[in-house]
Amino acid sequence: MDIADQIAECFRRRGNSEYGGERVTQLEHALQCAHLAEQEHAPVELVVAALLHDIGHLLHDLPDDAPDRGIDDHHENSGYRFLESHFGISVTEPVKQHVAAKRYLCAVDSNYESQLSEPSRVSLQLQGGTMSAEELEEFRRSAHWQDAVRLRRWDDTAKVAGLETPTLEHYLPLISQVAAS
Ligand code: FE
Repeated sequence: MDIADQIAECFRRRGNSEYGGERVTQLEHALQCAHLAEQEHAPVELVVAALLHDIGHLLHDLPDDAPDRGIDDHHENSGYRFLESHFGISVTEPVKQHVAAKRYLCAVDSNYESQLSEPSRVSLQLQGGTMSAEELEEFRRSAHWQDAVRLRRWDDTAKVAGLETPTLEHYLPLISQVAAS
């Protein structure tokens, strides 16, 4: 199975699970996120990263409400490990850093945290809360950190129940194209 087929299979198997207490499924969230990236004319690598940023949630067997039970699934790391043998860092770094980007935005944007959804605020605490000045400096030295911040903004918005987006089939050729490049 090539990587696009593997990912399609993954979404078919687990994409209908609820997206962490929000009113959309994992697949709807992924599609909305990728669609927002496309609408902003993001590079294809970042569109693919947006689509796949939460793939780690689909790889494990923890319950969907894990954060409510005080469990951090570290899905950014499992997603990163799954993707790194198929994609370059312009895809994998924003995926790995999208949780750090939330902690970063809490530190630099005073309006940001109040705009987060309730589940996202709950998980923030499990993920380490607002970045310290030191962590912030380190984050700004990491590769593709600005892409991770862009992805994060889409991630936070991609939670609209019933929103129309392109289907997964629209993105599969893009996955193959980016994986091959
Ligand atoms: Fe997300």
